[in-house]
Amino acid sequence: MPTRSQKCPECKKRFSHTTEGKWLPFCSERCKLLDLGRWLNNEYAIVEDLKRGHDLKSLKDIDDPDVKRALEELDD
Ligand SMILES: [Zn+2]
Repeated sequence: MPTRSQKCPECKKRFSHTTEGKWLPFCSERCKLLDLGRWLNNEYAIVEDLKRGHDLKSLKDIDDPDVKRALEELDD
């Protein structure tokens, strides 16, 4: 199987992978989860800001397929 090499956006290490690398664009599950966790924390911070002075929409109401997929993956 052909391999490619690229830089992981999380740990910035160069890694090689097959064209069907499981954690792409990250080098590993760990890096993928780290990135996802930070991303979700940002979403929660936005929700907390909204709670303080504005009408609240819960995280579930965020109509973004990436958010929904991320939450489903975390449930596994
Ligand atoms: Zn990495």
